Amino acid sequence: MKLKISQVGESVLRQPARPLSAEEILSPPIQQLIELMRDTMQDAPGVGLAAPQVGLPLQLAVIEDRLEYHREIPAEQLAARQRVPIPFHVLINTQLSITQASEVAFFEGCLSLTGFMALVPRALAVHVQCMNERGEPRVIEAEGWYARILQHEIDHLNGTLYIDRMAARSFMTSMNYTRLWQEKAVEQVRAELGLS
Ligand code: ZN
Repeated sequence: MKLKISQVGESVLRQPARPLSAEEILSPPIQQLIELMRDTMQDAPGVGLAAPQVGLPLQLAVIEDRLEYHREIPAEQLAARQRVPIPFHVLINTQLSITQASEVAFFEGCLSLTGFMALVPRALAVHVQCMNERGEPRVIEAEGWYARILQHEIDHLNGTLYIDRMAARSFMTSMNYTRLWQEKAVEQVRAELGLS
């Protein structure tokens, strides 16, 4: 079964999400929500989904970047993005800190902004403290595309969307991204779009 994904303009996407208690994490409704979010993310398909995106202002997100999503992407693009498969996992009550402040910009999209993409600068590496689906503490050190996914999903838990961070002139439909820009290096895209 899959859940309805909230689209930009719904206030739940702009609220800070609340933390979950250890008791809540282990409760049947939250365990069921995690399963439904997993199904919804895989069905979309997407590499991450945060609870506010399914209408719930809770500090809970799921992430999974499957090898099958990489098959259509040229090897040099995967390498430039430092994108490698990430197994399914759950993030609860997250605290993110930047460990490598230098930023890199790549196109990203969001399941709550269907049909659009933009260049978004993100820190290269992050450190995340959170809990897993059993309420156990977890520490994540991430870099590259995984660090980007974490920043994107944890932004959702703070009511922030990629459009708040994007290079505004690069905002475009996913169709035009695929048609016109996908094959180009980011430096070339920046030059052609008038982004210094
Ligand atoms: Zn998103």
